[in-house]
Amino acid sequence: MFEKIKFEYRITFAYLILGLLWIYFSDSILDVLIDNKQILTELQTVKGFAYIFITALLLFLYVKKHSNKLRRALVKAEESDKLKTAFLQNITHEIRTPLNGILGFSKLLQDKDITKEEINEFTDVIRESGNRLLEIVNNVLDISKIETGQIQIFNQSFSINSIVSDLYVKFNSQAAKKGLEFYCHKYLDDVNSLINNDEAKIHQINSNLINNAIKFTKSGRIDFGYEVKDDLVVFYIKDTGIGISPENMKHIFDRFTQVDLSITRGYEGAGIGLAICKGFVELLGGKIWVESDIHKGSTFFFSTPYIRLSKDSKLQENRLNQKSLKIKTTMPYKVVNR
Ligand code: ADP
Repeated sequence: MFEKIKFEYRITFAYLILGLLWIYFSDSILDVLIDNKQILTELQTVKGFAYIFITALLLFLYVKKHSNKLRRALVKAEESDKLKTAFLQNITHEIRTPLNGILGFSKLLQDKDITKEEINEFTDVIRESGNRLLEIVNNVLDISKIETGQIQIFNQSFSINSIVSDLYVKFNSQAAKKGLEFYCHKYLDDVNSLINNDEAKIHQINSNLINNAIKFTKSGRIDFGYEVKDDLVVFYIKDTGIGISPENMKHIFDRFTQVDLSITRGYEGAGIGLAICKGFVELLGGKIWVESDIHKGSTFFFSTPYIRLSKDSKLQENRLNQKSLKIKTTMPYKVVNR
């Protein structure tokens, strides 16, 4: 309540109250203790000085505390301002690159002499650029929704194993294109992997992290999957990529943060993917963290509560059967079952 009143009102109010209390109580005590008028007058002077020193000291401590708070807020605001500017520059670049691709290649499509293969090649570039643009816009929307508290959690029953399989199918060719080995790991059998949670968000967090793992890995392998520990499902995405220095690991989940902000850094991205992951994980009641060795690789982890479904629910069994049917048609892939 007191904290809500503005600083200048608070300090004037405190000063007045202190002064009145001091005059009232000190005068009453002195009147009771001392009869001599001269001593009383001298003591009144000492009392006045004491009041000035004490209130000056209190005022100093109070203003100091408040100024430190203001200074910290100013530094934070300046940092956030710099990050936002860097983010805007970076996102402009990120948007311009696929847009140029779309404009350039759609112009090439108008050429009368192009072959059928060229048409396919150009439309592929246009589609990829369009998807990239959509991804950027979705990410910006997500981060602003997280910041304004507009994200909704949808609880539904689904199988973690199905998510792992879907993700494998989604990213396998992307990893293969870079010559990376790609493995997924399932800790539970299909029935025990049925849980209650927000399927879309868990899928999106994993997608962002796998996408980053592929992006920041030049050679080697990527392993992803999950384990169950103390009523938590812990997902992990391990790569043998460029790694992250201990200094950069501190800020890696802050919004707009990229380890290397220069436009020429050679990796696309707007620096909001991990902040979105962190926002989602926290909304799901979990934690996200990273272990990394620079130049050796990184492992990102995130946890969510393991809210298991009862085995005897017919509906869930059916859902699982439908899902596995869908996956079987899109296999084969490398799965390491525990
Ligand atoms: P971006 O869109 O730039 O990928 P993110 O928020 O996803 O933004 O990641 C922020 C930064 O964290 C990246 O720019 C990169 O420097 C670092 N980073 C993220 N994932 C990895 C990884 N698997 N290996 C190394 N660095 C990573």
